[in-house]
Amino acid sequence: MTDSLAGGPLLPQERRVVTEIPGPGSLERLDRKKAHVADGVGTMLPVFVVAAGGGVIVDVDGNSLIDLGSGIAVASVGNAAPAVVRNVQAQVAAFTHTCFMITPYDGYVDVCAQLGELTPGDHAKKSALFNSGAEAVENAVKIARVATGRDAVAVFDHAYHGRTNLTMAMTAKNMPYKQGFGPFAGEVYRAPMSYPFRDGLSGGEAAARAIDVLDKQVGAANLACVVIEPIQGEGGFVVPAPGFLAAIAAWCTANGVVFIADEIQSGFCRTGDWFASDFEGVVPDLVTTAKGMAGGLPLAGVTGRADLMDSVHVGGLGGTYGGNPVACAAAMGAIEEMRTHDLAGRAREIGTLMAARLKTLAADHPVIGDIRGRGAMMAIELCAPGTTDPDPVRTAAISAYCHQHGVVTLTCGTWGNVFRFLPPLSISDELLNEGFDVVAEAFAATA
Ligand SMILES: *Cc1c(COP(=O)(O)O)cnc(C)c1O
Repeated sequence: MTDSLAGGPLLPQERRVVTEIPGPGSLERLDRKKAHVADGVGTMLPVFVVAAGGGVIVDVDGNSLIDLGSGIAVASVGNAAPAVVRNVQAQVAAFTHTCFMITPYDGYVDVCAQLGELTPGDHAKKSALFNSGAEAVENAVKIARVATGRDAVAVFDHAYHGRTNLTMAMTAKNMPYKQGFGPFAGEVYRAPMSYPFRDGLSGGEAAARAIDVLDKQVGAANLACVVIEPIQGEGGFVVPAPGFLAAIAAWCTANGVVFIADEIQSGFCRTGDWFASDFEGVVPDLVTTAKGMAGGLPLAGVTGRADLMDSVHVGGLGGTYGGNPVACAAAMGAIEEMRTHDLAGRAREIGTLMAARLKTLAADHPVIGDIRGRGAMMAIELCAPGTTDPDPVRTAAISAYCHQHGVVTLTCGTWGNVFRFLPPLSISDELLNEGFDVVAEAFAATA
């Protein structure tokens, strides 16, 4: 098995750096990329991958990197997870596409049934499937608008909802997501987020501040929906103060506003339960899902109260590829992996390990101003010691060191000063610890 290019859990679970990173094989391919791929499509750690699984990514030069990113919280069940591979192989050999809107198939309905069961709340739910997170968010907004007969959409500071025209308007950060791409969709309003490290407010205080903005600047009667990530992703893994989400949700209910939880990054066991909303006792009207749900295949969903979902006229929701049978088979395999290996429980264990490692690190390095997150979705924010002044330069230096030493780390945050850790839930404690050893070396080496 050692020399095989096959991925999945059988790959040797080791960090192995045998060339400079990127190595000669990757450098050659980067020239080809430069010739054929638009420059606008960047690569953060440009090694070309040949196999991945468990907790490692193997490149063309034979380097084996520890994966602390899961391809942005997508390969949560691990790359090439057995149940995903089995289901996809069977489905791809049976049929690859018919278009669900033309001639339907079981896989789509199976995934919708699972979404209804797994998302928060035990009320009657229905779902619709799409290809990407942005598309799910767009459709959630469409549904909320039809259901309420209202136009306005509320989002928050530091939000990330995608790169399509409507979702660019909903995303907070200009560079690189929005710069030059306007004009953006109208009727999108931004409220202040609860950001305990920076605002020091309780959940109730932060909610009152946000509600005041929505009430006075938009008007509850004009609002179709409030869209919020229960734990923000690209925006810096901002965890709102306890009670914030519940207060916003209660205000929405009282005012006929659809409360939409964007769980695209935080969902599917990532935070130690099926969904991050579960920890706050919040039952959203609609939930958007994507990333971790299908083991790496493109699939997204909108799930919510049956009456809301059914407010849209027949034919109003869909798309050529939405709920593709191969992607649905993958999702059923990924959900099977999550259930049989209790990956929510594993996410909590990973969270405990990471929190301990990060706490030790923070004690040695005052540049770490905040540790936050939940389960296998943890982050540290780097600031000039004792302040909240972002330190993106140090962040970039640490990131480069990790990459050169065979650890895939991701950054995020409005100021680019946050490390986010999103290991696959299939990673071993040994690899995870070794990954954090390298992160610790990186802090020391760049001090
Ligand atoms: C990634 C992400 C999206 C967009 O998903 P795509 O599949 O990239 O379109 C939307 N919302 C959140 C919270 C995300 O993390």
